[in-house]
Amino acid sequence: MRILVIGGGLVGLGAARALRARFPRAALTLVDKEPAFGAHQSTHNSGVLHSGLYYKPGSARARLVRRGLAQITEYCAAKGIVHDICGKLVVAATEDEIPRLQALFERGQQNGLKGLRWLSAAEAREIEPHVRVVAAVHVPEEGIVDYRGVVDALAADLRADGAELMASAPATRIIRDGAGWRVFIGGAAERELSADFIVTCGGLHSDRLATLAGERPATRIVGFRGEYFVIKPEREHLVKGLIYPVPDPQFPFLGVHFTRLARGGVECGPNAVLALDREGYRRWAFNARDAASALAFPGLWRFVSRYVRTTVYELKRSLSKEVFVQSLQRLVPDITADDIAPGPVGVRAQAMRPDGSLVDDFDFLERPGALHVLNAPSPAATACLAIGEEIAARVVV
Ligand SMILES: Cc1cc2nc3c(=O)[nH]c(=O)nc-3n(C[C@H](O)[C@H](O)[C@H](O)COP(=O)(O)OP(=O)(O)OC[C@H]3O[C@@H](n4cnc5c(N)ncnc54)[C@H](O)[C@@H]3O)c2cc1C
Repeated sequence: MRILVIGGGLVGLGAARALRARFPRAALTLVDKEPAFGAHQSTHNSGVLHSGLYYKPGSARARLVRRGLAQITEYCAAKGIVHDICGKLVVAATEDEIPRLQALFERGQQNGLKGLRWLSAAEAREIEPHVRVVAAVHVPEEGIVDYRGVVDALAADLRADGAELMASAPATRIIRDGAGWRVFIGGAAERELSADFIVTCGGLHSDRLATLAGERPATRIVGFRGEYFVIKPEREHLVKGLIYPVPDPQFPFLGVHFTRLARGGVECGPNAVLALDREGYRRWAFNARDAASALAFPGLWRFVSRYVRTTVYELKRSLSKEVFVQSLQRLVPDITADDIAPGPVGVRAQAMRPDGSLVDDFDFLERPGALHVLNAPSPAATACLAIGEEIAARVVV
């Protein structure tokens, strides 16, 4: 039996790991179009280990992040990957945010989070002395991790377990061949692979990979660019661990937050603006195919017309450091524009429906001989090992 995983981010690597365990005798291959595995979302993210505070009880995200957090923490400890379960503070900065914080607290309890605590302003300031707060929720299970370390360790384990890993190996054509598949690999590694089962985990290209395999997914990936700033070393003391705002429940993103990084330093961000290049990390990055795909998608315009004010604000915040700093000052008033410098950029793959609504949960499209991951938003990095098991359990050969 031959299984081919296309896409070597954390989800593809997690899937390959679980497939190796479930089908130890199968010929297992994992390909990625980039020279290094995990080159996109899996290493352009906030580096946070989430615990399941936000997600709808009973959803795949709520379920898999609980299991995934335990698994990845254990994995990092076993492999010596830098991580720290430092805890997180979700902060209501003003009175009117308290009902939403209360709802979040209850959701966390429903999702089985351990040690959640409701804190007064004084108690919150014992943890984060520089925060503007009227009440807060402390989430002791959350932490930070070096996801590059996780990617590299998973890839090394797979190789040691006899899987074939191919980098610089873009899947360019996928053709049904009887009960199996012929998959054409372009680039330097040009060759043809055959497989009995394919699993596609394309992240920012997940809709395109499913389409290559003959599907017509109803959803489209829209890339949301998130820009971070880094706090200058002499001002890092303003943030001890993780400081998050109360998120707007209408949006899947968690809002601009402060994150101490596993490898040192403190980041703040990200904002969320439409990406005209799904893999564009430079300012003004533009890719004609990606821009056309987003702008010609009616769902995007319905989304924008529904959230005009937020869209305009996010654009302003991306263009103006001053506006960005104002949103940071809502949480940490002492921070100034001089304290921060431009930092990394990430692009989130978000599946959107033609009616402009966003797909909240993880989404898998199952077919005979194939499983396509169509949506794997945050916390898919935290949950990658559990998502991998979920995928492997659905593979029928
Ligand atoms: C700004 C930002 C902040 C985030 N913060 C967090 C966080 O703190 N914690 C958390 O848990 N999650 C976070 N996330 C979400 C998390 O990073 C992603 O959900 C997760 O990394 C998705 O993994 P993936 O493997 O699906 O995608 P990716 O990592 O994007 O991997 C997809 C892979 O598919 C490959 N590929 C695509 N097309 C082809 C092709 N044709 N042939 C071969 N290979 C192909 C790509 O090269 C890529 O390596 C964040 C994401 C972003 C962008």
